[in-house]
Amino acid sequence: MQFMLCAGTGCLASGSLDVKEALDRELAKRNLQDEVQVIMTGCNGFCAAGPIMVAYPDGIFYNQVKPEHAPLIVEEHVLKGRVVEKLLFKEEAAKDRVPLMKDIGFFGLQRLIVLRNRGLIDAENIDDYIARDGYAALSKVLEEMTPEDVIEEIKKSGLRGRGGGGFPCGLKWEECRKYTSFPKYTICNGDEGDPGAFMDRSVMEGDPHSVLEGMAISGYAIGAEQGYIYVRAEYPLAIQRLQKAIEDARAYGLLGQDILGKGFNFDIAIYPGAGAFVCGESTALMYSIEGKRGMPRIKPPRSAEAGLWNQPTNLNNVETYANINPIILNGADWFASIGTEGSKGTKVFALTGAIANVGLVEVPMGTSLKSLIFDIGGGIPKKRKFKAAQIGGPSGGCIPSGMEDVQIDYESLISAGAMMGSGGVVIMDELTCMVDTARFFTDFSVEESCGKCVPCREGLKVMYDKLTDIVEGRGQEGDIEFLIELGNHINNTSHCGLGKSAANPVLSTIRYFRHEYEAHIRDKH
Ligand code: SF4
Repeated sequence: MQFMLCAGTGCLASGSLDVKEALDRELAKRNLQDEVQVIMTGCNGFCAAGPIMVAYPDGIFYNQVKPEHAPLIVEEHVLKGRVVEKLLFKEEAAKDRVPLMKDIGFFGLQRLIVLRNRGLIDAENIDDYIARDGYAALSKVLEEMTPEDVIEEIKKSGLRGRGGGGFPCGLKWEECRKYTSFPKYTICNGDEGDPGAFMDRSVMEGDPHSVLEGMAISGYAIGAEQGYIYVRAEYPLAIQRLQKAIEDARAYGLLGQDILGKGFNFDIAIYPGAGAFVCGESTALMYSIEGKRGMPRIKPPRSAEAGLWNQPTNLNNVETYANINPIILNGADWFASIGTEGSKGTKVFALTGAIANVGLVEVPMGTSLKSLIFDIGGGIPKKRKFKAAQIGGPSGGCIPSGMEDVQIDYESLISAGAMMGSGGVVIMDELTCMVDTARFFTDFSVEESCGKCVPCREGLKVMYDKLTDIVEGRGQEGDIEFLIELGNHINNTSHCGLGKSAANPVLSTIRYFRHEYEAHIRDKH
């Protein structure tokens, strides 16, 4: 019997380590430690229900488990073979029977590719990863495929970068391969910094080898022997688990010299970033690794030609790399059969804000926002109404009530005035002031602007001050037109992605909630 206990950051914060200690103690007291294992897994996803524990072989889903429940769990579940009623997750879908994970709405509609090992492996045990086809893709690539074959397969799959821009991954690898200068580098962008986003952190913490394997395959495809993972220092658990994963992979001959005896050399180092949001921009990130101030530079040359230390460099984000193993093992056609015409595969989202089931979810591209909020997210708590969803963080935009049928894919979100971004989804209810929400995201961008160019550095501050005036009752006629003109100017003339999209929260809230701006200005509050 195994108890898979979530050790994602959310469940750790709500006490899952104490639960493990209590269970281990209780099992030892009754001499059951050899019969029952308590295994700490990566983030299970259903953060709102934590600490979460799934009991195998049956797959019974227990939630909100506390250390004081340990004697009851051992007595009832282990010794008497009965479920612990008070720890079952009560939901309509599972009312008439003992709920397994698949019976719970939050899990039932998800499709797991990136999060395929969620709740099933100990993130710190390489054998667990290998037992679930881990490194089988790297082995296949080195045994059977040329670098060009790998690039073709990724191109055919339709995988687009999951970091925000949605650039086709295979094309990026192909461009980098064609430059012959050596050394080359492949970088993993783990600098996730959007408010409300924790997708990449959960993957790095919960399944670090999936990232390493994707990077090694990328290195083989482009001709690189060195990879870097840029991960913000505020993610200490991710850094610790990645470091252990790198050491274990080296010990197994899966990183380092002559990998699997196939003559391929590739190693990975971690570079902890200091937490500047702008260092998520590729050129700023590379400057930061070089020890310079993290500021975006003018392109061209593109990073594929002259990136890190002016050498050809490929950069993808955590989620993109975690897709590579399943694509290589199951084939490009399989991956391309999931999702929509222009957006293949799945997308991981962090659901936060005014939503019942705060957590981490993975859904096929093309899933409606409505399904994400109500079927998976469980709707809005306290019987309040859904008002809007901010998708894509400070660079994204808000999608209002009435447009919940919008499909989640790159193009549909842009048409709706938002963007995929890296996958942060903040839900707002009827009590939320949309002008204040726009001000919050603008404040974030003001703080994170690197200051290199005037429209972003100065324009955003002016925009923030104007929003503050409106929210605090000092708004005047003409302010809305001023914000639209200034917002378009900032978006059109800023240098990098941060500035080019920083006005989106303001422009999209004016587009859909202009009446709230007008009410603040008219009523002076
Ligand atoms: Fe820096 Fe903003 Fe200019 Fe980007 S747009 S380079 S963050 S000042």
